[in-house]
Amino acid sequence: MHPQNTTAHIAYKGFTNRDCPFYPCHTGVKRAFNCLFCYCPLIAYDCPGPYRVYTDAYGMPRKDCTACRLPHDGYAASWAFIQKWLERPVLWCGSELTARERIARRRDLIA
Ligand code: SF4
Repeated sequence: MHPQNTTAHIAYKGFTNRDCPFYPCHTGVKRAFNCLFCYCPLIAYDCPGPYRVYTDAYGMPRKDCTACRLPHDGYAASWAFIQKWLERPVLWCGSELTARERIARRRDLIA
């Protein structure tokens, strides 16, 4: 058995469950649809995804990730995306802005 980071096999990076009653749950995916991150590991962390924010029944801000394809578009690509954003996870503050938008705004303030 090989450790994941040295094996040439990429089966652990994703799979497609075409029997799922919700498949395909996100539109616009161009590569193999990756169902591995169905429950996105970044839901509680900053991410660059195009989420919307809503308030749940307890008054807590939550992400609506309907428009996000990042954890689903291609086995290798979505695996790499999730690994990169979990290297240094930052708890999501409940903001409407994605991490990408916050970084862009900071750049605007500096420029
Ligand atoms: S917006 Fe995309 S990357 Fe961010 S938590 Fe939702 S599904 Fe994950």
